[in-house]
Amino acid sequence: MSFAQQGGVKDESMKDALRPYEILATDAIGNPTFIDFISTKVKSDDTSVYEFLKTIYGFDENTTFVEKEGSAKEQNGIFSKKLFQHYKGIKVEWGQIVVTYKDGFLRSVNGHFTPTKNSRTVPLTPVDNAIKNTIQKIGAEEYAWENMYLQKMLREETQNPKATYYPTAELLLMDKNINEGETDVRLVYKFDIYALSPESHKEYFVDATTGEIVYEESLIMHVGGSGDTRYSGKQTFETQLFNGSYRLHDYTRGNGIITYDLRGNDGYAPFWDFTNSDVNNWWSSAVYNNAARDDAALDAYWGAEMTYDYFLEKHERNSWDRNGARIENYVHSSIDNTRIADWSRNNLSTVGKIRYGDNDELDGNPWTCIDLVGHEFGHDIEATTSQISSFNNYEGGALREGLSDIWGAMVKFYAKPLNTSIYAHGSDVSAFRNMSQPNLHSDPDTYQANHWVFEGNTTNLYPNHTNSAVLSHWFYILAEGIQQQMQ
Ligand SMILES: [Zn+2]
Repeated sequence: MSFAQQGGVKDESMKDALRPYEILATDAIGNPTFIDFISTKVKSDDTSVYEFLKTIYGFDENTTFVEKEGSAKEQNGIFSKKLFQHYKGIKVEWGQIVVTYKDGFLRSVNGHFTPTKNSRTVPLTPVDNAIKNTIQKIGAEEYAWENMYLQKMLREETQNPKATYYPTAELLLMDKNINEGETDVRLVYKFDIYALSPESHKEYFVDATTGEIVYEESLIMHVGGSGDTRYSGKQTFETQLFNGSYRLHDYTRGNGIITYDLRGNDGYAPFWDFTNSDVNNWWSSAVYNNAARDDAALDAYWGAEMTYDYFLEKHERNSWDRNGARIENYVHSSIDNTRIADWSRNNLSTVGKIRYGDNDELDGNPWTCIDLVGHEFGHDIEATTSQISSFNNYEGGALREGLSDIWGAMVKFYAKPLNTSIYAHGSDVSAFRNMSQPNLHSDPDTYQANHWVFEGNTTNLYPNHTNSAVLSHWFYILAEGIQQQMQ
């Protein structure tokens, strides 16, 4: 192939280009994707480059190239820039060409050109319809623009009071068959839709003539991360690459395990993501064992993953509702600091929410260690199964708390089998119940025995927790045997 065969040589500089250049690679339809100019002289000014590309790709005057802003670079005297292909002023998706040049002459041309001759450029489907129809096809329960807290955060981040997650579309031309031997160029709207439940964040390419979704691409990527937890050493966990940084979202387990930062709020909102922009996705104690004690979030997160795995592996139970229900951790809650953590679930909801206090009144270690996560998750299971009544006789509630301590111990043993304080509930922060020796923390070891809280007692603020030791102590004896207990 040479310029002479292509024609279109107009000036002196193009005569130089008649010398052969080397095509090192082509795409599926035979167009060059890499051209080397070692022995060919083509000037690097815009007109010469345009004429050269026109000769190579055979386009007409409706095709133009727009230099990508900020793409011009120079290294060792070699310059480069990226050009975006346009047709009748409409950008062509994936049509981009990088040219390098030195001393005023091209060195290489590489990239992809999509033939767009005679393509339709006037949409038939109004953009609003295309967006609405796509939202309808996705059929999510909640979208990011419907969530006032996410919207508020976006507006704060962008410092634009009108910023919204509601999609805005770009009109483009794209080759639906880009990797195939025959082009199928469509006029499309491109927009992204961020759905919260079930979670998806994708770029959609919708045909502006037929309304058909011709291509979609997920903007969410799952990546394994690791880091220094506050209480359980180095651990690995799933994370999500989102808008250029990693966050604590795991959609590989059921409908998701997510950990949010309440930054001292006492409700469930507003909340923020914990994020990490470290290239290795390493959540180091140097960064996260900070004044806010953010490393404690890793314990809640990893702990919830382990809790999920424990129930799936040992009890064939897919999350607390057997149906993959989503688990949301809310760390740095300012709920009454004498409370460790709590859980809540609307009966109609498929999301179990757990809040964790920062424990500022005691030693300042947030209540996120693994047996506490298992404990709170256990409450969700209990509420979905037995729903033991909590009449104010300190017995129903005691059964619920006892069961949760048992789950907490089991999850702790599953995730940290070498831990020597399996029966000391909350031992990673500061143990406050002991299943082997309940009396250590002034809890009863026998029904209505010493330390039992009788109905009518109003001085003990947590009678259910106190009386729960009878059931959890029973479990200890069941697991270890009476001999152990006698020692
Ligand atoms: Zn509890």
